[in-house]
Amino acid sequence: MTAQRVAIVTGGSRGIGASIAEALAKDGFDIAISYARNATAADATVARITALGRTARAYRAGEGTDAARELIEQVVQDFGRLDTLVCNAGIYPYAKVQEMTVAQVDATLDLNVRAVMLETMAAVTHMKRGGRIILIGSTFGERAPFPGISLYSATKAALGGFVRGAARDLGPEGITINVIQPGPIDTDMNPADGAGADMLRGFLCMPEYGKPADIASMASFLARPESDNITGAALTVDGGLAA
Ligand code: NDP
Repeated sequence: MTAQRVAIVTGGSRGIGASIAEALAKDGFDIAISYARNATAADATVARITALGRTARAYRAGEGTDAARELIEQVVQDFGRLDTLVCNAGIYPYAKVQEMTVAQVDATLDLNVRAVMLETMAAVTHMKRGGRIILIGSTFGERAPFPGISLYSATKAALGGFVRGAARDLGPEGITINVIQPGPIDTDMNPADGAGADMLRGFLCMPEYGKPADIASMASFLARPESDNITGAALTVDGGLAA
């Protein structure tokens, strides 16, 4: 019998991360999710996955400088293996360069870039051939269509560079690493009825917001053996925003 496969989804309590966690559970993975503060939402995601007949557990993100690596080590200790890492947790600061604060720069780099690198570094030490690393970037990593998003765009662009380089390192080990670049997706971070939503819709070819499930289906595909030949790629799912 094949051992049960295990996936970690950071920021899996709500939004895109919760949808990815559920999709991977439906694909047969046992699931670890992390969250920041919302234990109620994290418990609800765990309950939905458990109802699918899979094992699931939520981990509150730590705050030390090595917390991202420690999360991975803890999950491997608890679940016994690691097959797929989805780095989804992220924040979206909105500030023009003239208004950005040092605290904003540090917090955004820390979660959107540094944590992704630390999680990847720890995860690959446990993965076997067929391992998958899936990062959630943004179409704003390639295009910044309005003011106030330079910091966010810079962090998401960094993920493109990271996957291209890391794919070279990990290819010989049979591990793939890719970044999914969503456009506007209806979540608490970017509600379809929010203040800037109509402006965003104006940038799209398909003029409606995407759903978390649109990103989850791409993550599900990337976690499957059928995607074996895709690595170092930025896969844009953005309703045509970057077209
Ligand atoms: P949400 O704000 O709706 O959800 C964020 C999730 O991340 C929550 O589960 C939250 O936990 C968790 N989180 C926040 N900080 C941390 C942390 N330090 N450690 C662990 N988990 C954390 O975001 P979305 O679902 O909209 O976005 C998910 C990803 O997709 C992000 O990387 C975002 O940049 C990207 N993205 C989103 C787009 C959109 O339009 N929505 C478009 C392009 C990219 P808690 O519930 O505890 O707060």
